[in-house]
Amino acid sequence: AEKPKSGRILMQRIDSVNATEAELLETLKRPSQKSPEAILKIVTPIIEDVRKNGDKAVLSYTHKFEKATSLTSPVLKAPFPKELMQLPAETIKAMDTSFENIRKFHAAQGDDKTLQVETMPGVICSRFSRPIERVGLYVPGGTAVLPSTALMLGVPAMVAGCKKIVLASPPRADGSVTPEIVYAAHKVGAESIVLAGGAQAVAAMAYGTESITKVDKILGPGNQFVTAAKMHVSNDTNAGVGIDMPAGPSEVLVIADKDANPAFVASDLLSQAEHGVDSQVILIAVDLNEEQLKAIEDEVHNQAIALPRVDIVRGSIAHSVSVLVKDIDEAMRISNEYAPEHLILQIKDAAKAVDLVMNAGSVFIGQWTPESVGDYSAGVNHSLPTYGFAKQYSGVNLGSFQKHITSSNLTAEGLRNVGSAVMQLAKVEELEAHRRAVEIRIKHMDAQK
Ligand code: NAD
Repeated sequence: AEKPKSGRILMQRIDSVNATEAELLETLKRPSQKSPEAILKIVTPIIEDVRKNGDKAVLSYTHKFEKATSLTSPVLKAPFPKELMQLPAETIKAMDTSFENIRKFHAAQGDDKTLQVETMPGVICSRFSRPIERVGLYVPGGTAVLPSTALMLGVPAMVAGCKKIVLASPPRADGSVTPEIVYAAHKVGAESIVLAGGAQAVAAMAYGTESITKVDKILGPGNQFVTAAKMHVSNDTNAGVGIDMPAGPSEVLVIADKDANPAFVASDLLSQAEHGVDSQVILIAVDLNEEQLKAIEDEVHNQAIALPRVDIVRGSIAHSVSVLVKDIDEAMRISNEYAPEHLILQIKDAAKAVDLVMNAGSVFIGQWTPESVGDYSAGVNHSLPTYGFAKQYSGVNLGSFQKHITSSNLTAEGLRNVGSAVMQLAKVEELEAHRRAVEIRIKHMDAQK
């Protein structure tokens, strides 16, 4: 059907007092995704082709999808030529500020100190972290320029100490990469930029080609082809590659009460709505009267029609909702059930309400904290779990680029202390060699007495 190009831009309303729980959950359901099987059928042959034919296959897909037919190599290796990162001074300054804040916040997440616990006298258990050696960072291309995503993935990889950072991004039709991405790659010390997108980029990094480095983990958002390809290669034990998390369309949930400024609330809703027609935007209005609610709705409409991306906003607002609730507990209950990627608290004593947050990717507290600051420059990461995965996944953080290794170190006394438990459990599990590995040592100690 033809999309409406005019008319009031209005979110649907639902009153939690009159609605049943089932109705409420149905309203908050994410728009369903295309069947993964159909997408897998498209990406599997691409992945196979790249695995077998390497660079030649990668290039042919870039020629096809990006129309970059002049491209003769699928990779750009560091050091990157200065002329490929010519940028206005104000863009450099903004990227440097963001880089530094992201670096500071992620560096503080480090646990360089070995954690050590003596669980019994002479039984010492430790845990320490090591960087993942080679990481592949996917920065979506298409029409958008996303230097922020390159920083959000690249800076923590750099801080973690990953030896090889490979960035992948679909080039423009003339075969070039946007200078912002080259600059970000340079800042984080990336070893190369793969000039490809979609399943071919994912496959190239998962298996390696003649010129593209094989990586140990692939991170970063992308469209459904990228997501399906990541799932596919992570299931192939021969690839030996991990991924960050499943990805879906971006979303925000704003909780607003009487204290909230309607213009601020609307601006946050719209900054999510402009991402794409599949974005989901939810407002939970806490004890607002008709006049207060209408003030927010008016702001949404008036600010929306002045946006360059108003047509996208019409699409996303069409399936977005305002939920009316009586109090903050009810608002938080619904929010925790929905598990939003971004949660914005524009309420009185917002900082206190954080104690009630159980499921969310990232929280934005109080009227002076729009989501945009977290998207770009505050220091928190913007690669976050969507589609309800905030219930079990964390957003990208320093730990995403590390492994934690444990060690145990026992003294003779320690082995005596814990040995009987080990031997008994080995006996129960009928693993005799396990039991004897302890017994043989204890007998040795006894013989030396
Ligand atoms: P993309 O880089 O994700 O995908 C481009 C690739 O898609 C192409 O290189 C091609 O390989 C593949 N492709 C396209 N059509 C295909 C087809 N018919 N068959 C096989 N492969 C095909 O760029 P995009 O498409 O613009 O999508 C960007 C995605 O990134 C969106 O889904 C958006 O939601 C997401 N995004 C995320 C963030 C973030 O979290 N940082 C920001 C902006 C956008």
